[in-house]
Amino acid sequence: MKEGAAPATESAAAESAAAESAAPAPAPGATSAAWFQRAKECIPGGVNSPVRAFRAVGGEPIVIRSGSGALIEDVDGRSYIDFVCSWGPLILGHAHPAVVEAVRRAAERGTTYGALCEVEIELAETVTSLYPGLEKVRFVSSGTEATMSAIRLARGATGRDLIVKFSGCYHGHADHLLVAAGSGLATFGRPDSAGVPESFASQTCVLPLDDEEALEALFRRQGDNIAAVIVEPIPANNGLLLQRAAFLGALRDLTRQRGALLLFDEVISGFRVGPGGAAELFGITPDLATFGKVIGGGLPVGGFGGGADIMDHLAPEGPVYQAGTLSGNPVAMAAGLETLRLLERERGWQKLEAAGERLETMLVPILEAATTPIQLVRCASIFWLAFQGGEPPRSAAAIDPHAAERYRRFFHLMLKNGVYLAPSSYEVGFLSLAHEDQHLERFCDGVAAALAAMGPS
Ligand SMILES: *Cc1c(COP(=O)(O)O)cnc(C)c1O
Repeated sequence: MKEGAAPATESAAAESAAAESAAPAPAPGATSAAWFQRAKECIPGGVNSPVRAFRAVGGEPIVIRSGSGALIEDVDGRSYIDFVCSWGPLILGHAHPAVVEAVRRAAERGTTYGALCEVEIELAETVTSLYPGLEKVRFVSSGTEATMSAIRLARGATGRDLIVKFSGCYHGHADHLLVAAGSGLATFGRPDSAGVPESFASQTCVLPLDDEEALEALFRRQGDNIAAVIVEPIPANNGLLLQRAAFLGALRDLTRQRGALLLFDEVISGFRVGPGGAAELFGITPDLATFGKVIGGGLPVGGFGGGADIMDHLAPEGPVYQAGTLSGNPVAMAAGLETLRLLERERGWQKLEAAGERLETMLVPILEAATTPIQLVRCASIFWLAFQGGEPPRSAAAIDPHAAERYRRFFHLMLKNGVYLAPSSYEVGFLSLAHEDQHLERFCDGVAAALAAMGPS
């Protein structure tokens, strides 16, 4: 049904409902399937971001109609406990009343001015007061924009071109960061997407995570040419690859010694694992940090910041150009500000850690009893089910390639049981303040049932 063809009156709605009930019941998921068909006609692959298309798990995506607290509902009227949480932003859950109210009040005063407004200053003050070493922050509209701009700033501030990133970290889709490791360790990168020129990729070196030797070798050869090392200090885009503090410490030491900037990409971890992100957790202050997701409270916001000495290289203060029509948008700023204030006011980060601990306590015995290799990797309210035994993987290369097949079956069993997980084995799950014990219990019951149905593998 076209949106425009929706019944206009209540009696028409009742009539059409009666007509529908007389017709044979539609197959489960029929309405989602119809919408997805329409989507494919007008949007590439039917989606505005690739993983949403379910290619990694097979089948077709459910189409969402609404979200409330820990639950989402699809257009077929089925409800799911949502552990995707829009890939991280929804730390308070869907449609939190305080955020909805903040958005409504902001929108009533105008949705954008393209001029300085109060709320962007308040959010900047809040963010700089919470995150270690952050004196100034500039807001943009996505995480991609944040990392792209921070890289330009790092290059402009150091007068160097080379960027170092790690295999298994994702930093959005800017050209210089869509780069994969070349053959062999510590080589210059190659484009990880069509459309990225070799010459761009050649300015980015890609290293393995969890490997101080490779890092030291690169710094011996190229240390004086490196503008910045960008890393997710809690890599959460290729599974959850928890790093050793010593590895991050080596990064801090080497960059400082050689005049390269250390850039923590905290788009997921920032204001998620605690008010000071991974920087606070590890006690390591980066030179630059990027934010997104939680900082916008569910609206499009990114940000990058650092010490004033570096940030003042940005226009209009300095020569590094960066701008945005909707940057500091008052509605998005209001959602972010309300989210952070609520987390502070209600000891949200402690509550999320406690929820994560409860999940772990309930889930670990179930996973240990399973005949499929599976383990829980968790950091605060970020979790990942790794379908492999042994040590938790700390680098992309340590992930069992068979895990994805196991996850495919698991994902669909969970979906059928009313649990919405990320449609890819490489994506993590998130808890929000709206996830109560009953949701965690239903999740654990679902996991036990799914693993039993899967049998040994
Ligand atoms: C999501 C993400 C990005 C990109 O943010 P978008 O808002 O999707 O552009 C960058 N870095 C990390 C670590 C992310 O998780």
